[in-house]
This record gives sequence, structure tokens and C-alpha cells, in this order.
Amino acid sequence: MATNSMSIQMRKGKPITRDGRKISSKMLQDTQEVEKLITNKDATRFMQPLRGTPAYWEKTLKDLNAMVRQLGKPTFFLTFSAAEMRWPEVIEAVKAQQRQQVDFSQLDWNAKCDILRSNPVTVMQLFEKRVDELMTILILSPAQHIGEVEDYFYRVEFQARGSPHIHLLVWIKDAPEFEGLQDDFVVIKFIDQYITCQMPDPNADSELHKIVSEVQVHSRNHSKSCKKGNVMCRFGFPKLPMDKTILTYP
Ligand SMILES: [Zn+2]
Repeated sequence: MATNSMSIQMRKGKPITRDGRKISSKMLQDTQEVEKLITNKDATRFMQPLRGTPAYWEKTLKDLNAMVRQLGKPTFFLTFSAAEMRWPEVIEAVKAQQRQQVDFSQLDWNAKCDILRSNPVTVMQLFEKRVDELMTILILSPAQHIGEVEDYFYRVEFQARGSPHIHLLVWIKDAPEFEGLQDDFVVIKFIDQYITCQMPDPNADSELHKIVSEVQVHSRNHSKSCKKGNVMCRFGFPKLPMDKTILTYP
């Protein structure tokens, strides 16, 4: 993979190694030379523009660290997972491209998986559109749902079965600082303004109540990752909600 990426990068410019030699395709055929290039970070340097490579993420991490130095610690760390299995429009769009119609409610888990797998590009495109829309609503909206956003950073990752999720960092203007710099009650007030573990009222918003009870609740049966070693659930569930928010210190 390193050899291929470097060949592509070579066509774009005139790469020189750190010790001043011109990188030739002959050099790339030589395993020892390639290893030397990787050790000197010459190889990784050429891979930097290639999204997803270690060199790419190394640069991204540097950029992110620069943001933390400039802006301070981020206020929110949010994870959003794709729920293609619950999105009829994704399944229907994939089928429509194959000039077929499906009744989403009649499909079982395996049938949905097969359809999603048949066109991962469309699935990803629709996910990307959702992410864009999420950013518009959550980050850029003048309604300031999570406060006035100073800056944000997110990264898309893929689970084993190929389902994407994003990790998002958000910096909020004038957010109180944790760690004893401010009174606890100021921090608690801020948290309570935006975060709750309360079950939504089914009468007030039945759809929200349904979504939260289906995907935001730790399963009674737990999952595979719950049981590691001898513990019943390494996440410590079930947990009872507390009456009020408290801050705990080590
Ligand atoms: Zn569990």
C-alpha cells in the first residue's frame, strides 16, 4: 500500500528523500529502500494527502492539538451513529437505483443488511447528507441549541460491519470550566441546560419517546461487549438516574 501511494504521489511532484536523493520507481521496488523511507518518515510524508492513511491522521491530530491550544478544552464530546436499519429512505433509495420497490416494514434484519451491502456508496452519500444537516441544525443554527459554537471538529469512523459514526468535539463560547476553576453550581447549571437522562414524555412527543427508549437505553439483555472477564456488565448497568446533577472528583 505504501509503495502504491508513493507511486501516485511521485507522479504529482518530484519527491526527494531526506538525504537528498531523488525517489525513483526502482527505489520503490527495493524492500530495504522502502523500509528506510518509512523509518525516515519520507514514506508517510507522501501519504499525508491520502485520506485515511496514518500520515493523514497524524497531520489531523496536529491540527486538532493546535485547536485545543488555541481554544482550550472542548465543551462537548458527542458520538452519533448511523442507524441505516431504521431509515426506510436509505433502503428504498438503494432499491430504487436497482429499479425495484420494497416495503420496508416487511423486511427482516438480514434482508436489510443485504440491500445496504449491495450499494455502500449510496449508503455513505446519504449518511454524509445527514451529517451535513446535523451540523447545520446543531452547530450553525442561530437557535444555538447547545450554546454559541466557537468551533468544532469531527471525524467519521467505521464499525466492524461498515456502519459509520462520527465523533464530534464542540467548543462553546463562555462555557464554564470544570476542575475547580469555577464553582460547581455554575458547571452544573450549564450541564443541566443541555443534558438530561430523563425519559421524554410519551404524550408530549411520542416519536422522541419511542426513539429514546429504543436506542438510548442500555439493553436489559446487555450486549456482547458488556461481558468482559467475570463481570456481568462492565459498564455497570443498570444504573438509576439521580435526582440532580453532581460533579464527582477522583
Ligand atoms: Zn451491559
